Amino acid sequence: MTEVSMAKEDVASTGDLVVLKSVNKHFGALHVLQDIDLTIARGEVVVVIGPSGSGKSTLCRTINRLETIDDGSISIDGKPLPHEGKELARLRADVGMVFQSFNLFAHKTVLENVTLGQVKVRRKDRKQAEERARTLLDRVGVGAQADKYPAQLSGGQQQRVAIARALAMEPKVMLFDEPTSALDPEMINEVLEVMQQLARDGMTMIVVTHEMGFARSAANRVVFMADGRIIEQAAPDQFFSNPRSDRAKDFLSKIL
Ligand code: ADP
Ligand code: MG
Repeated sequence: MTEVSMAKEDVASTGDLVVLKSVNKHFGALHVLQDIDLTIARGEVVVVIGPSGSGKSTLCRTINRLETIDDGSISIDGKPLPHEGKELARLRADVGMVFQSFNLFAHKTVLENVTLGQVKVRRKDRKQAEERARTLLDRVGVGAQADKYPAQLSGGQQQRVAIARALAMEPKVMLFDEPTSALDPEMINEVLEVMQQLARDGMTMIVVTHEMGFARSAANRVVFMADGRIIEQAAPDQFFSNPRSDRAKDFLSKIL
């Protein structure tokens, strides 16, 4: 059993951590995000679901500024996301991201993967960074793999390294975009367990997933998207037992 025990970084402060106001984005003629208003409280776990192409990944990518927005605003911990420069790199480091594909540096060891960003972006001393990396790798259950290269690990192990790498930056919020979709079935749970533990430890999380078991047990709120809009949002119990919109009913009838 993997264990991720993380002191909640900012226990004293409360309130809204991620705030999107009237966010719009187009890809050419495609209005991919339409008037998105979304507020995520510190420590909240929000699961985003919806049909393929509804804008879930784009939403994630705008939150850490991998994509620009056309209008509206996004702020993280009270600070509006800047457009470029050093400040952007720092703020982006506040948002940890784990993708469907593992995105580890193939030519670096597992330990280096988790150490690098701490040294380059967070300006940590290498020794301290390596120590933190080893602690995090232990916590996600891959401490024994520290000196291997990503290709020598299973998909589930690689994804846990990716989570450790994101956590190493001491993010204020973690974004997960279908983190288990590319995994063989037997590896899905080991990754979900790490995420469950992270949620229990109070990490603020936005999770795009088709794992409805995770949504039911870990989420405080389910956000349902279709065609670039948030159609409805509710506590998981309420959403799964009594979806209000036809779009959500239709979606759930296909996946449950
Ligand atoms: P989801 O993650 O919900 O499946 P995405 O956010 O990936 O949806 O995509 C939403 C829509 O935007 C899709 O129609 C997709 O084809 C389109 N899209 C995504 N990225 C780009 C891009 N870089 N350029 C043009 N269209 C894109
Ligand atoms: Mg997607």
